[in-house]
Amino acid sequence: MSIHILSEAVIAQIAAGEVVERPASVVKELLENAIDAGAKQIAIRTQGDGQALLQISDDGHGIRSSDVRLAFARHATSKLDSADDLYAIDTLGFRGEALASIAAVSKLTMTTRHTSDHSGTLIQLEGGLIVQERAIGSPVGTTITVEQLFFNMPARRKFLKKAATEKRQIATVVTRYAMAYPAVRFILEQDDREVFRTSGSGSFMDAVTAVMGADDARTMIGVLGDRPGATVTGVTSSPQLHRADRSRITLFVNGRYIQDSAITHAVVQAYHTILMSGRYPVAVLLIRVPSDQVDVNVHPTKAEVRFRSPEGVFSAVQQAVRSAVTTQADAASFRRSQTYADTVDNAWTRGHQLDMGLITNDIGQHARHRAELNVNDDYELTSPSTLIEDDTAIPEGAGAPARPRTLPILRVVGQIAASYIIAEGPAGMYLIDQHAAHERILYEQFMAAAAAQTIVKQMTLNAQTIELTPDATALVDEYLATLLAIGFDIEQFGGHTAVIRAVPAVLADHDPVAVVKAVLQDLERGDAPGTKAIEEKIVKRVCKTAAVKAGQLLNAEQMRGLITQLERCHFPLTCPHGRPTMIHMSSTQLEREFGRLGAG
Ligand code: ADP
Ligand code: MG
Repeated sequence: MSIHILSEAVIAQIAAGEVVERPASVVKELLENAIDAGAKQIAIRTQGDGQALLQISDDGHGIRSSDVRLAFARHATSKLDSADDLYAIDTLGFRGEALASIAAVSKLTMTTRHTSDHSGTLIQLEGGLIVQERAIGSPVGTTITVEQLFFNMPARRKFLKKAATEKRQIATVVTRYAMAYPAVRFILEQDDREVFRTSGSGSFMDAVTAVMGADDARTMIGVLGDRPGATVTGVTSSPQLHRADRSRITLFVNGRYIQDSAITHAVVQAYHTILMSGRYPVAVLLIRVPSDQVDVNVHPTKAEVRFRSPEGVFSAVQQAVRSAVTTQADAASFRRSQTYADTVDNAWTRGHQLDMGLITNDIGQHARHRAELNVNDDYELTSPSTLIEDDTAIPEGAGAPARPRTLPILRVVGQIAASYIIAEGPAGMYLIDQHAAHERILYEQFMAAAAAQTIVKQMTLNAQTIELTPDATALVDEYLATLLAIGFDIEQFGGHTAVIRAVPAVLADHDPVAVVKAVLQDLERGDAPGTKAIEEKIVKRVCKTAAVKAGQLLNAEQMRGLITQLERCHFPLTCPHGRPTMIHMSSTQLEREFGRLGAG
């Protein structure tokens, strides 16, 4: 074939292929247009997998009859003027591609009426060609009906998944936007059945509840982070709620749903030592950055963005989520002052106000729409976590502050393999790994003592000398302050000899030389910069060494002591390394295993 210029029709199809991958992409683009138009209510109807029918109706400002044709031209937009505007984008759309692309691969009908027009317009296109345009009576707003999607692209049709999968994808797109725009009422009808609806009350928690269901939503923890370069608000799961993959971590940047593996990783990292490895949190995070700090023009579907300071956004997200999760155990006191829901909704509103301060040009409808997010409600979360509350806490020891109970009261039944404790609780049977559980207990006690600077040292009987390699000598030098803070007292002598005068008191029964060697080996493998990380690492090693071992027989009193302390840990379900401390078999599971369920 000789070189030739492709026909307009083929060019249009190729371009459309980038934007319209599947029915859900059509829904996404049309939702974004409706939101940009300042809609207060958006109704979505679909039939089957979406190829037969996709209809999106909004009550936004509509399109002037004189502009209707132009809206379907490629690169036609009302949202962007010059290339400079690309760095101050405050609308979801700006490429002027969606309507042209969708029209190119379907049979499309649009009726629209602009707020300043007296009558509406109906326009019909097939494969991108206008087949009809006329005046029509219609309320203010826009309804777009897409039929026979991909009718002229049989190849694309073959790539679509089962109808159920495409339907689910559509619902996912709708529910995401519903959470990011709680002031808009979303209604989704699939195959003539209403499957989803939000109230449009303006409350983020209302929208999250509509999406996740009241049970899961109740267990979510409010996230609030306010850094100069990025504010982070939203909700993240308490440690009891987790999933097998990262797909339930939902991120929005400046009101736009995005995929970003680095930020997703920041969320996962915030749960380090809190969730078992291989389990992932559920989160909905609304990130706001000044619009000149983010480039949204990276990808045709605008699902990826580039930050001017990715590290700043990463650490803002990680810190906000981490502090939300780690302070969750203090939920009781927090809740007394105000509900999580109020806090999150207020922050969400504030985020918008913050952002609005940065908007210099008049964006009319959009600003109106955002301002309405100030509408708050009196949504109340009665219990923000699944923690088992028990305000009559048992004192843990002389003067120790009573902590809320994080596990039900467990009755020790016995020990097996000198490694696991069997216990019974109101919800069935628990098998507890004594070593992992003790590590968790010691770790939390140690971190609390370190924070309060009350770590107890144990002087070694005779000062023990230890021969160090040159590397280890350098490590002791480097981390001496941290080692001292944790309860080690080490003094370097000439050459590569050091004297260990004291170790943390929990290690009293252990060989000080072996302990210090193990700590130094961990530090050598060091990949965690920052004093905090180093300290955690040393503490983890100390706790691992001091914890009861598997294979150690425990008497009833020792087992009870261990369980009582575990019940008061912030995160009793995992050891500091993220492995589970216990296996729970509910009464129902036991009954099922024994074939007793349903058997009279
Ligand atoms: P973009 O959103 O990138 O501007 P689109 O092709 O999606 O490009 O839309 C083209 C133009 O049509 C928009 O800029 C907007 O002016 C107008 N438009 C599209 N959908 C709507 C709608 N639902 N309500 C009002 N105007 C709309
Ligand atoms: Mg658009």
